[in-house]
Amino acid sequence: MKRIKIIGGGLAGCEAAYQLLKKGYAVDMYEMRPKVQTAVHKTDMLCELVCSNSLKSADESTSQGALKYELELLDSLILKTAKRNCVPAGGALAVDRHEFSKGVEKELLNFDNFNLIREECKEIDDWTIVASGPLTSKELADQIEKLLGHRHLAFYDAVAPIVEYSSIDREKTFVMGRYGKGNDYLNCPLSKEEYLEFVRELAAAERVIDKEFEKSDFFNACMPIEVMAKRGEDTLRFGSFRPVGLIDPSNGKMPYAVLQLRKEDNYNKLYNLVGCQTNMKFGEQKRVFGIVPALKNAEFVRYGVMHRNTFINSPMTLNKDFSLKTNPKVFFAGQITGVEGYMESCMSGLIAAKSLMRRYENKESIVPDEYTMIGSLLNYITTKKQDFQPMHASFSLVPPLNERIRNKKERKAAYTKRAVENIKEYIIQLER
Ligand SMILES: Cc1cc2nc3c(=O)[nH]c(=O)nc-3n(C[C@H](O)[C@H](O)[C@H](O)COP(=O)(O)OP(=O)(O)OC[C@H]3O[C@@H](n4cnc5c(N)ncnc54)[C@H](O)[C@@H]3O)c2cc1C
Repeated sequence: MKRIKIIGGGLAGCEAAYQLLKKGYAVDMYEMRPKVQTAVHKTDMLCELVCSNSLKSADESTSQGALKYELELLDSLILKTAKRNCVPAGGALAVDRHEFSKGVEKELLNFDNFNLIREECKEIDDWTIVASGPLTSKELADQIEKLLGHRHLAFYDAVAPIVEYSSIDREKTFVMGRYGKGNDYLNCPLSKEEYLEFVRELAAAERVIDKEFEKSDFFNACMPIEVMAKRGEDTLRFGSFRPVGLIDPSNGKMPYAVLQLRKEDNYNKLYNLVGCQTNMKFGEQKRVFGIVPALKNAEFVRYGVMHRNTFINSPMTLNKDFSLKTNPKVFFAGQITGVEGYMESCMSGLIAAKSLMRRYENKESIVPDEYTMIGSLLNYITTKKQDFQPMHASFSLVPPLNERIRNKKERKAAYTKRAVENIKEYIIQLER
């Protein structure tokens, strides 16, 4: 009997289990609740939604809708159970969380070869999928750290906002590396008045307070920009906003302060606000960063967040099929891989299970290509970056279309159409 161990009965673990069980594999799933609880889960149920009951948009012309479309074609258990237990939520797919969890649990327990073990798992063996989530238990985290090395496991995320390149006012930027080294940065200069207004508004901005995060050691190493602003008006100007080594070609002068933007992807669609990790409320981020002239109309692809989140350095440790580079018989799935969100976690469980089965059966490894929502996110989390932080599905991650479509809705529909065609191709390849 082909027996696979899954650590964690959350969104990723349950989806992975279903994909394996329906292909005749036996699954030993370890779920530590209710014996060992996390700081956030409240029940003993599998697939508990820890916060919102919304799985986000179902509209196929949005990135979340396109991801759902792909998952539907791949027969996702999480998605079909969500649809069966949905509650009215406009264009979003929201669920009755209790019925949803019960539905997933019932479906898995219907398989004779599903073995649910209510224990904390502390060992990672061959043919295991680690899906223990953002609140992985301490002893398992220690094992993961041993397996990957200290540098490759993080306990908090500290995400700086990412903006869409096309929404940046490039007239108000210049391309230059500090001291003329390379051309890797898009620099947003600020005059003295602009900088002082920016610092004042930062210091006064409304924040999301996470008590555990504020107490952590990590806090000192990676301080939110608004906290730095409170330390004095020049703190940022001597830190990540320092202008030294940068000359604005429009006037031949060193600006008073500079916000640097760094490329996030190979398609030049996304830029990261360097050194701007923040806990400001989302609306405040848009307002305060909008004081920087180049970002006045910036579209935020993701806002900054800082919270407790166990995740591995996937670009350094994982293959694209979610297997470990150092042991391809061990797979990771879910939020712990640096994907972010319920559906993204479910997606990674699904792909990890399909990949594991191919490896088990000595078949060539295949994953959806970068034109799909799934493949583009896989690309993102396995491509080396200076500071890897979690990411959700987004049209901004897929390669541009061959033709230029000005209408935003039509452009998004074209992304979805291309993605769906390519997912169908992936499904055909899987069946070969
Ligand atoms: C506070 C908080 C709020 C969030 N809010 C949202 C939101 O509103 N919308 C959204 O899309 N995403 C949200 N997320 C992200 C969310 O966690 C993920 O989207 C999703 O739950 C991750 O799925 P997962 O399967 O990776 O982990 P989980 O769903 O957390 O499942 C992991 C499971 O592993 C178990 N486990 C851990 N260690 C062990 C062990 N050693 N042995 C056995 N079992 C173990 C845990 O008990 C848990 O059941 C939130 C995350 C947090 C932390």
